[in-house]
Order: sequence, then structure tokens, then C-alpha cells
Amino acid sequence: AKSRGRNNVQLFAPSMLEATQERSRMAAELRSGLETGQLSLYYQPVVALATGRIIGLEALVRWRHPERGMVLPDTFIPLAEETGLIVDIGRWALAEALPQLKAWNAVVPGMRDVKLHVNLSAAELLRKDLLDDVAGTLTRCGIAPEQLVFEITETVLMTRETEEAQVLAKLGGLGVGLQIDDFGTGYSSISYLRSLPADTVKVDQSLIKGIDADEGQRDFVAAVLQLIRSAGLQAIVEGIETGGEAGRLRELGCVYGQGFHFSRPVPADAVVSLFNADFPP
Ligand code: C2E
Ligand code: CA
Ligand code: CA
Ligand code: CA
Repeated sequence: AKSRGRNNVQLFAPSMLEATQERSRMAAELRSGLETGQLSLYYQPVVALATGRIIGLEALVRWRHPERGMVLPDTFIPLAEETGLIVDIGRWALAEALPQLKAWNAVVPGMRDVKLHVNLSAAELLRKDLLDDVAGTLTRCGIAPEQLVFEITETVLMTRETEEAQVLAKLGGLGVGLQIDDFGTGYSSISYLRSLPADTVKVDQSLIKGIDADEGQRDFVAAVLQLIRSAGLQAIVEGIETGGEAGRLRELGCVYGQGFHFSRPVPADAVVSLFNADFPP
């Protein structure tokens, strides 16, 4: 058995090494991709379910790799978070999105009421120049802090780390919105809901799957929405893929939603025409 164990180790070791090498190669490629303009932001609308009116745009990063093609963030954001590269990606995303918003503010009627949502990872809260960067870029672009919302996962918002908590409080103090992302996928959400420094909650798409067909699921979602309301927070449900789901959510009193049913994330140059389109109810 012992010799077999050793054999296993020998068989296993190369693939472990390969996986590690593959990851570090990908990290190096991501860094150079960031430096050579392979990253871009797509934007997905957040809509008022009653009218289909766009009330927000969420910026989502995309990586166009010369050989791999379009790489989705679920593959490279975790890697970027592990390697710390997320800090540079976040800095780039702000520098990209806010001037873009400034341009839209100038051409889209009523745009100043539309909020720009930017995802923020935990590590970015410890970026020393975050507050100055956010405040400075907003001022330079002539954007009111209220037009910017940071989406932060509940695990981050629940932090007991005083440094992160202070940064969150200061971000809130600037006047930017803070939103709990992926609500329903973490832990302890309920007990913390009332004390989190946030004003809106993005309900994770996994919670609404089956809502159209399953009455039990509907009751459950109704309770979750009630819980969010009773904490004094506004809910946005994400991952709405069908008109049936949108209709059910509307019946449950859900005001805001996001999902492929309304629009997939689109490149920046396709955003203005979204405002001319009517979204299906
Ligand atoms: P997220 O913040 O929860 O973003 C929502 C994800 O759901 C997006 O995936 C979006 O394209 C997808 N989605 C939207 N509507 C639907 C739908 O109806 N059905 C389904 N199945 N999916 C839908 P995406 O763009 O691949 O992003 C994945 C994650 O990567 C994001 O999850 C976010 O956590 C992270 N991410 C993306 N961009 C950034 C960024 O700039 N900074 C940071 N820190 N994280 C980012
Ligand atoms: Ca998000
Ligand atoms: Ca989410
Ligand atoms: Ca997510």
C-alpha cells in the first residue's frame, strides 16, 4: 500500500504543478492584458419592474484574450482577488466607468437619475488611495456621489475588521450608495441585515429560480423581500430570465430587477440605444 501511495503522489504531483503553473501563467497574462487594453466594461441595466424604465447600469468587466477569446469574470476575478491584481483592475474600472458615465450624462435625458453600479472586492477596501480616488474622480467628472453605487458582497459588509468597516463608513460618508450583492448566498445575512452600512440589497439569482412554477418558492421569495423591506432596505432581484419570473416578482411587490429577460450586459457603445428600447414587462 505504501509503494502505491508513493506512486499516487508521483502521478498526482505533475498535475498539481501544472495547475499551479497554469494559474500563474494566467495571472501574468491578466496583468499584461490589463496593461495592453484587453479588459473592457460591459453594462447591464437595472430596471423598474412596473415600467421597464432603466434606473441603473451595472459595470461588469470582460477580458478579450488574444487566443482564449472572451473570458468571463468568474474565471479570472477569483484569480485576481488571490493575486491582489483586483486592486489594479478596480482602479482601472473606476477610471473607465466614471468618464463614460459623464459622457452619458451629457447625452441621455434623465441620465442623472440613473445610478452606475460598480462591483467592489474586499481587497479594494484596503487600497490606500481608494477614498481619494473615488472622491477625486467623481469631482473631475462632475458626477454627484449619489449617482455611484458600490456593490459589495455581504461577507465583506459583515466584516468585523475595523479598517474595512471604517473605509465603508467613509465611502458612505462621501454620499455614494452601498449595496449588498449576492444576498442569500452568504451566512448570517439575516441578523446583520439591519446593521449593515447599505441602502439596497441585490437578491441573488439562485433564490428566484423556479419562482414561476413553484408556489412554495414564491412564498419563500415573498418572505425574503418582506425581510429586506422591514430592514428599511430596497431590493433589486437579479437573474430574471423570463417574463413569467418578472411578472411573479411584480406581484410580490418587488420594485427593481435585472436579468437577461430585460437585457444582457452590453458594450459601452450599445448603452445609449438601450434607453430608446422598450423593455418587455
Ligand atoms: P455579480 O456581481 O453577481 O454579477 C451578476 C452576474 O450575473 C454577471 O455575470 C451577469 O452577466 C450575470 N447575469 C445577469 N443577468 C443574468 C441572468 O438573467 N441569468 C444569468 N444566468 N446570469 C445573469 P458576470 O458578468 O460573468 O460577472 C460575474 C461576477 O464577476 C460578478 O457577479 C462579480 O462578482 C464579478 N465581477 C464582474 N465585474 C467585476 C468588477 O469590475 N469588479 C469586481 N470586483 N468583480 C466583478
Ligand atoms: Ca454585482
Ligand atoms: Ca450578484
Ligand atoms: Ca455573483
